[in-house]
Amino acid sequence: MEKIKAVRGTKDILPHEVNKWQFLENKAREIFSLYGYKEIRTPIFEEISLFVRGIGQGTDIVRKEMYVFDDRKGRKLCLRPEGTAGVMRAFLEHNLADNSITKLFYTGPMFRYERPQAGRYRQHTQIGVEAIGSAEPSLDAEVISLVYNYFILAGLENIQVELNSVGCEKCRGKYKDILKEALAKNVTAFCPDCQERFNLNVLRMFDCKIPECQNFLNEAPKITDAICPDCQAHLAEVKAHLDLLKINYKMNPRLVRGLDYYTRTTFEIIFSSLGSQNAIAAGGRYDKLIHELGGDEIPGIGFAMGVERIVLALDSIGKKWPEMSSLEVYNIAVGSQKAYEYLFELTNKFRQSGISCEIDHRQRSLKSQLKTADKLKAKRVIILGDQELEKGIVLLRSMNTGVQREIKFEELFDLVKKEVLP
Ligand SMILES: [Zn+2]
Ligand SMILES: [Zn+2]
Repeated sequence: MEKIKAVRGTKDILPHEVNKWQFLENKAREIFSLYGYKEIRTPIFEEISLFVRGIGQGTDIVRKEMYVFDDRKGRKLCLRPEGTAGVMRAFLEHNLADNSITKLFYTGPMFRYERPQAGRYRQHTQIGVEAIGSAEPSLDAEVISLVYNYFILAGLENIQVELNSVGCEKCRGKYKDILKEALAKNVTAFCPDCQERFNLNVLRMFDCKIPECQNFLNEAPKITDAICPDCQAHLAEVKAHLDLLKINYKMNPRLVRGLDYYTRTTFEIIFSSLGSQNAIAAGGRYDKLIHELGGDEIPGIGFAMGVERIVLALDSIGKKWPEMSSLEVYNIAVGSQKAYEYLFELTNKFRQSGISCEIDHRQRSLKSQLKTADKLKAKRVIILGDQELEKGIVLLRSMNTGVQREIKFEELFDLVKKEVLP
């Protein structure tokens, strides 16, 4: 029969590499908690209307990248393409607002029907944070410093913060008009997608990944020259606070891309050696989103990062990932059933005491069992044959030094326990 393969654009994370994902997730838990973030886990599917309202009708995500399906009762559902909308839905549904800033983080799979390439999968892992309840620019700087420090502490130092402001509902419309007027005479020179975006929502043209379109847009008027004085002042304060934290940033006027719900601050973290997929984290302020979803006018800011891309980035600089937990004891029985039963029970006893231990269930030859112990990177093996059984001893061999000792049955357990858990 023909073998079934993983669906195009999906990736198995195999046992020999899963330590990378675990490392990045654990690091996130460790660092985010220093800033007061609490984990939230929302479902991976939601009503489609959540994303249409939250992300925006005109975005590429909603137009062509969502995995949409009807359930058995005909409900229109969708695999989440990003994490923010679901967190905001939960924030509203469970009244998580309090007097201080509500700080939430999530990690998990997101789904987008995009063309697969290196570091981009149709199911990919994201880690993100949301800080809800304040429009203060110092919070923007704190959130940017959080993602920045995360990368430094994860071992990725050669990164660049890119910053922009997309203005507010009052001034963005004016910028759209300026941009439309500037692009109108050349609009046929853009790709067909961009021509459609020009009519739907001209800002979405900045999403285009085609170099020719990007070149045209480099010449376009900058949004930061068009935003209102309040938005200017907000941006200036964000910058001042980043300076205070000594975080280098570069203004990128093309950082208008992304989702409709962004207001004012947008930012990306760039690791340039990754080529075209060089953004490893992206975020921004979304002061209108919660209102859009039926709540009060509650401002917020957040970011998300793509774990698969961060793995690529760290691999590219030769990151030494933490070792998989190694095996403390490998038990080898050779000869009679009685020797095997003795070690079978001992294996259980070690595990109950918190000591990792393994035994060969097939009772193969000494040579093949030693080979397996080696492959499993066992620190020590215990060998028990009929001769040893008769004398009431085992052979305890250190796999690092090769030194082998004879140990009496009654002393064995405590001796190993003392070595492993001093
Ligand atoms: Zn404004
Ligand atoms: Zn284009």
